[in-house]
Amino acid sequence: MRRTALFFLSLCLLSVSLAHAEDLFDIKPMADGVYAAIAKPVYKINCNAAIILLGDSVLVVDTHSKPSAARALIEQIKKITGQPVRYVVNTHFHWDHYQGNQAYPSSWPAGVEIISSRATRENIEHRGIPRVKYEIATMPREIEHLKSELAVAADPKRQEALRTNLQQAESYLAELKSMQFTLPTLTFDRSLILYRPTRTVQILWLGNAHTDGDAWVYLPKEKILFCGDALHGWTPFMGDSYPFDWIQTLDAAEKLDFDQALGGHGDVMHGKQTFELWKAYFRDLLDDTARIYGEGASLEEAQKQVSTVLIAKYASKFDPDFAHSVTANVTKAYQVISQAR
Ligand SMILES: [Zn+2]
Repeated sequence: MRRTALFFLSLCLLSVSLAHAEDLFDIKPMADGVYAAIAKPVYKINCNAAIILLGDSVLVVDTHSKPSAARALIEQIKKITGQPVRYVVNTHFHWDHYQGNQAYPSSWPAGVEIISSRATRENIEHRGIPRVKYEIATMPREIEHLKSELAVAADPKRQEALRTNLQQAESYLAELKSMQFTLPTLTFDRSLILYRPTRTVQILWLGNAHTDGDAWVYLPKEKILFCGDALHGWTPFMGDSYPFDWIQTLDAAEKLDFDQALGGHGDVMHGKQTFELWKAYFRDLLDDTARIYGEGASLEEAQKQVSTVLIAKYASKFDPDFAHSVTANVTKAYQVISQAR
């Protein structure tokens, strides 16, 4: 009796965990055997992934912010194909794109190559891992803050949202503490081309952009480009970026022949409009900040004045959080311009 109860309990837990797995990503076909895994919004965000069937194996682009998210995607991949994942690409070193790496070699111990640019591997080692340790040290404060917000929240909907966030924050911290740092096993400088039975995949470094190691994954026959965070559907994050180079790198990427693009965040993009939008935004951001800096403006004055102009021109074209993100972008532009002197 007790064993039966335990069996049903474990079935329930399994179905809960599978249901949860399905909740993390929307799988959208982009071409025959090529899928976009669009991350659903959660408290600790996950990036999108690409699932590319190669005939004898599978290539996945990016591994999200935690091993459990990567494992959730692996469950979804297994419903699409029986082929093993043999290649994983980390587009860059940010937490939400590589922290799930360990899930792949642990799911396919016979061999998974994790591919990145050489710069990204070095960035994970020298900057990514210390940032995880910093998060482990500082997340308890974030959790305490959520608890104190929950204690004073009056609205039941707000309470429910805070409770969910708190639960996600606590399980994320537990995952970070037990994380096995898993670095790329295969690096490239300019390009790495996989010639597999049903598909050719070009993995390219086209210049500094969102970071100094951004990888683009290009399918020339299918005319699909995966962009990581060098181009996506949200407002650009510029914290580790090279803003002037970024414009040129987008020019280089735009010259590739593609119809569809998928970034690390947001939906599938058609055509090249988002490339034009981001380049225009970066140019305005840099030009306006440079002009105001040249007039002797302090950082605070630049933040206020440039943000106002950019919000009026661009807020409707980016995500709803644009007004918050833009101040950080002006700060980055001001730093780059003032340090260049
Ligand atoms: Zn990202």
